[in-house]
This record gives sequence, structure tokens and C-alpha cells, in this order.
Amino acid sequence: KQAMDAGWNLDNSYSRLPGTFFKDHQPSPVTLPKLVILNEGLASSLGLNSEKLRDEQSIAIFAGNQIPDGVRPLAQAYAGHQFGHFNMLGDGRAILLGEQITPQDERFDIQLKGSGRTPYSRGGDGRATLGPMLREYIISEAMRGLGIPTTLSLAVVTTGEEVIRETDLPGAVLVRVASSHIRVGTFQYAAEWGTVEDLKALADYTIKRHFPEIEGEQHCYLSLLQEVIKRQAELIAKWLQVGFIHGVMNTDNMAISGETIDYGPCAFMNEYDPATVFSSIDRQGRYAYGNQRFIGGWNLARFAESLLRLLHEDQDEAVKLAQEEISNYTPLFHSYWLTGMRAKLGLFNEEDEDEALIEDLLSIMHNQKADYTNTFRDLTIDQGENQPLFKTAEGKQWYERWQQRVSGQHEPKDASIRLMKESNPAIIPRNHRVEEALQAAVDNNDYSVMERLLEALANPYEYSTLQEEYSTLPPQSTRPYQTFCGT
Ligand code: AMP
Ligand code: MG
Ligand code: MG
Repeated sequence: KQAMDAGWNLDNSYSRLPGTFFKDHQPSPVTLPKLVILNEGLASSLGLNSEKLRDEQSIAIFAGNQIPDGVRPLAQAYAGHQFGHFNMLGDGRAILLGEQITPQDERFDIQLKGSGRTPYSRGGDGRATLGPMLREYIISEAMRGLGIPTTLSLAVVTTGEEVIRETDLPGAVLVRVASSHIRVGTFQYAAEWGTVEDLKALADYTIKRHFPEIEGEQHCYLSLLQEVIKRQAELIAKWLQVGFIHGVMNTDNMAISGETIDYGPCAFMNEYDPATVFSSIDRQGRYAYGNQRFIGGWNLARFAESLLRLLHEDQDEAVKLAQEEISNYTPLFHSYWLTGMRAKLGLFNEEDEDEALIEDLLSIMHNQKADYTNTFRDLTIDQGENQPLFKTAEGKQWYERWQQRVSGQHEPKDASIRLMKESNPAIIPRNHRVEEALQAAVDNNDYSVMERLLEALANPYEYSTLQEEYSTLPPQSTRPYQTFCGT
């Protein structure tokens, strides 16, 4: 650990894991680093000085051109099921600089994404382009505003170099912040290629870092499995509640911490349709909106498998224990989901018919191609009286059922509306608004459009004029919207 000008206080506990989990590796320097966006709020919560982060030396650190004294940069090893196929992966274009210890004594990974080739790069060039790095910045900030666990974005620097894709594109490095980068795929890697001691070291490290409350328990690895299941169930329920589609839920893109990670082809759904897919490579719809809950369970089963050697000496017993835990995922997910959906409809207590009420609304929305976010937004603002959706026969009937359910509660109507305002965002990062912001930034070096979008996204549950401005639907010309992986 050491203190530096800008407030860096970096440790690297990950490098004290067995050597099989990483390779010491330096970022590759770039020609002409330039800071294009800095997250001042995040900087200060990390104990960093925003003013100093803008000086030449700090920018050189972000770009990978300079390594602070005492820092031990490394690339992490991991595996993963990509669209169901198991592969050896690892950080192919990212370097972990270390872990920033904040003034509150919290620990956050500081990772440079796009910082050059590593021993795990395979065919890739190790680089990233400006548009997708700014996109990750915007969406991760949106998730933070929405109250959904996520990795964060501290800064983006351009490299002054072109990156060869279908066309030449400006290169960039994203400074990513995460409570850790340990993935389901990290455990899969340990289970497949590590010794049982390696696996145990990783599990102990993970418990210490993310689940200290279970440390020292007799069956702590079973508790680890339980806790990871809980966090994933909660996370995916939250995604569904805001219409988020991750797009590439490979096991290497599932963080053990329960944070959303890897904003490649993700996007928010407009019209409600469980089959919605944005990613150009997801041709089978494996990661469609409505499939995410099931993929969560599938990925957790892979996680459970990777822990088997730690769960019981007798592997048949271990499988039994693992299966028992995995079978809890579906009901757990369902209860998180139901709780969240009740809140979206302003319901405080639980009644048996609630699930039907929710499902019926979704099915009406689906039939009528209603916008997901704005339907709930309108129900929140004026109870949807002006919504064409609730003027149809089935809509009207549903609406009356809902009104009855709401007015039958002990809580007054305005408490119910307050609950809805806390649960239904007035704004999501609409794809066309994100594109507009990226275009201004990348094509015209104009970051004002993005800054303004970020300002609105910082307070998505505020029903004011700024948020209203962003609630307009995309023009037909921008549909269907398509996203692309890892560019
Ligand atoms: P992702 O699709 O972002 O989850 O990435 C899957 C794997 O591909 C990871 O191991 C990445 O490090 C690697 N990867 C993605 N893009 C590149 C690139 N341009 N160069 C090298 N490796 C890459
Ligand atoms: Mg990834
Ligand atoms: Mg990616």
C-alpha cells in the first residue's frame, strides 16, 4: 500500500492467491492519452481527488502508460460457458491495477479495460474502442441510479491510436471499478485446472472479501453457494423490473459479488415482449429478456458444480447438497420478483391474487405492444387514466381490478403512489438517446449530450421535467435496435 498525490491507496490481495489465478502483466503503453470523461462522484467516494486525476500523471496511469510505485498489475485467469460452450478465457484485454482501499476501508478493484494484449488474449488485439467504452460508462451509471448492483466506471481515456475493427475506430481505455472481478468462471477455472487447494484458496478469499459474515462457519462453502444464489436471484429480479437485458449472460460474465458486469450487448427493452433480444450474435434467443431468470439458474448450477470438491468428501453427498441449494433458486427468484412487481403496482401487503394481477397486466402489455417503462410510469403519474392501453375492454377490466386492490389496502392512496414512484423509474437509458449521446461524443467530440443524459439518469426515480424529456419513445426508424459484442 502506498499513498500518492491523487489519493491512490492500492493493495493487491489478488496477487497473494496461488499463481494459477493470474499472470503478472504490464499494460501496453499508448501514443497519446487524453481524458474524455471522469466520474467525479465516484472518485470522491473512492477517496480520490478529482482535480489531481485530471493531471498528466493520472491520465498516464489510466492509459496504462505509467504504473504507480509498488503496484503489481496482473491479468486474471478464468474460464466460462459462452452460449453453453465451455472455454478457457481470462482477461484478454484488461489489467487489474490493484484494489483501492477507500477512506471507509472498503476495497474496490481498479481495472483498465482495453489496455493491450495479455497472455490470455488468444486472437484478440487487447484493445477497446471509444463508443463501447462510453456506452459501458453510461449504462453502468444508469444501473447505479436505478439502485441495481453494478460495476462502475471511473474514467474513459482515448489512446490516440486507431483500433482495427470493420472500420478503423478510435481506441480507448475504460477504468472500471468493481467490488471484485471474481466470476462464476473463476471458480470453473479453479475446478477444471486447479488443485483442490487452489479451489479452497479462491473460495476462502471470496468469502473473506464478499461474505465475511460466513467466515469460520463449519459449512462455509455451502453458505457461499447459498449467498451467491441469493444475490443472483435478487439481481436478476431487479433487471427484469426495469426491463434490462444483459445480452451475454455467459458464466464468465456473472460476478460472484452480485454486481452486473460486462456491458457489451446489453440494452433496455421498449415494448414489453419476453422474447426481446438485442444482441446480434444471440440468434437463438438464449439470453432473451424472459430467459434471463432461467439462465441465472443454469449458471448457478455451473457454480455449484465447481464447488463440489469443497462441499463434502463423498462426492455423491456433495452433489446432493448442491442440488438441494440449487433447487432453492427458483422460489427465491420468484419471491424477489413478486415483491418488486407488487411495489411497482403500489401494493404493500401480499394477497394470493397478486401474481395473476401482475401476469395479466404483462400479458395485456405484450398483446398491445405497450412500452414497458412508460406503462408503469403512466400508472404512477396519473394512474394511467389517459393510457390507451386501459381503454380497451381487457385493459379497462384489469384497471378496475387493480384500483380495487389498491383501495382495499390500509395504506392511503398517496402512500401507494409514493411506493410506485420509488419502484417505477421515470427514465431508463433509451437506446436511441444512448446512441445520440455516443454519436455526438465519438463523431464530434461533443460530450455535452452524454453529460446531460447522465444527469437525468442519475435520478431516474425523480418525476421532473428533465426525466420527462427522456421518456419519449424511439422513432420507428431506429428499430429494430441491434447491439454488438465486445468491440
Ligand atoms: P466478453 O464477450 O466481453 O465477455 O469477452 C469474452 C472474452 O474475450 C474475454 O476473455 C475477453 O478478455 C476476451 N476479449 C474480448 N475482446 C477482446 C479483444 N479485443 N482482445 C483480446 N481479448 C478480448
Ligand atoms: Mg466478459
Ligand atoms: Mg465484454
